[in-house]
Amino acid sequence: MKEVSVYNKRMKLVKGEGAYVWDEEGNRYFDALTGIGVAILGHNNKKLVEQMKDQSKKLVVAGPMFAHNEKEEFFDQIEHYVDYDYAFMSNSGTEAVEAAIKFARHETGREKIISMTNAFHGRTLGSLSATWKKEYKDDFKPLLDGFEHIPFNNTEVAKEEIDEETGAVIMEPIQGQAGMIPAEPDFVQTVKDLCEDHGALLIDDEVQSGMRTGKFLAIQHYGVEPDIVAMGKGLANGVPIGLTLCDFDIPKGKHGSTFGGNPFASKVAAAVLKVIKKEKLIEKITEISINLESEQIIKLRGKGMMKGAIMGDTVDNYMPKLQEAGIIAGVSGNRIIRFLPPINVTEKKISWLERTVEEVIDDVGD
Ligand code: PLP
Repeated sequence: MKEVSVYNKRMKLVKGEGAYVWDEEGNRYFDALTGIGVAILGHNNKKLVEQMKDQSKKLVVAGPMFAHNEKEEFFDQIEHYVDYDYAFMSNSGTEAVEAAIKFARHETGREKIISMTNAFHGRTLGSLSATWKKEYKDDFKPLLDGFEHIPFNNTEVAKEEIDEETGAVIMEPIQGQAGMIPAEPDFVQTVKDLCEDHGALLIDDEVQSGMRTGKFLAIQHYGVEPDIVAMGKGLANGVPIGLTLCDFDIPKGKHGSTFGGNPFASKVAAAVLKVIKKEKLIEKITEISINLESEQIIKLRGKGMMKGAIMGDTVDNYMPKLQEAGIIAGVSGNRIIRFLPPINVTEKKISWLERTVEEVIDDVGD
């Protein structure tokens, strides 16, 4: 059987350890992509592996109709960083967003959802309706009714479009897939105020930006508190997880997930957050973010461990060379190289990454 060809395959990976992964020929790479922003505590993290082993012997699944300590333990850890009354656990970023959209419609009774140009919120039909790129959407129409896109960072249009009919506005504080485009502080505040004035809810998509920028949520840099938060990716360091946070309840039977919030994922996610707290990793990000300087880089965007380098020419010129130099990085479109390394990496390793990337880029430019 062949796999559906929706992704290009760059190589076959066989193992990982800390910030490194190995291909089948035994070549080692610094993993500055981490499964697209997932292995935030590195691969084969000993503390997490221990918890996985223990939990797999104890209880892997309980079924969503049963309570268990592991979920409570995870919620306790989340409460260290944010203050929400309700949480819903699922298995991916797109499911976390999907729940956020459903919860917003249920709570407000309104259909209209506003999202942003260049936004990426996932591939299931609800999240896809909020996503911007035509190439991801056009072959799957009809998508959901009620979705509208406004220009990201344009406060004037936001003032015209967010109104009494709006159920929610969804945005990424830093647009990841689009190439690490940060929201302007004035825009985030205006959107929040408009939501409050019109009874709409602000959905903060932190699936990619969560825990990577020097705050638990990237939106916390803006001093704005969203009504609903969607998270995923790094929350369980590779064990599938999605999380939707809000301040209102959803009645029984209205939404659900077979695997969501299982004891295994909950235990690992609790362990991830304990490590992050104990080692003060979020605070440390401010000290050791990725910085790159090169004439080939037009601009370096993003924050902390979520950075995108806008290149003067196509990334195809750079990616094979980076790989030859032992670096795996991501791309956005054909001009942006994306970096989402583990957040617990040492300053020395980040310096090596910066130096090597600059050398490779400068070499190609010469
Ligand atoms: N939201 C954002 C901001 C993302 O970056 C992604 C994935 O890249 C998603 C949602 C979808 O997450 P998943 O691929 O886990 O469904």
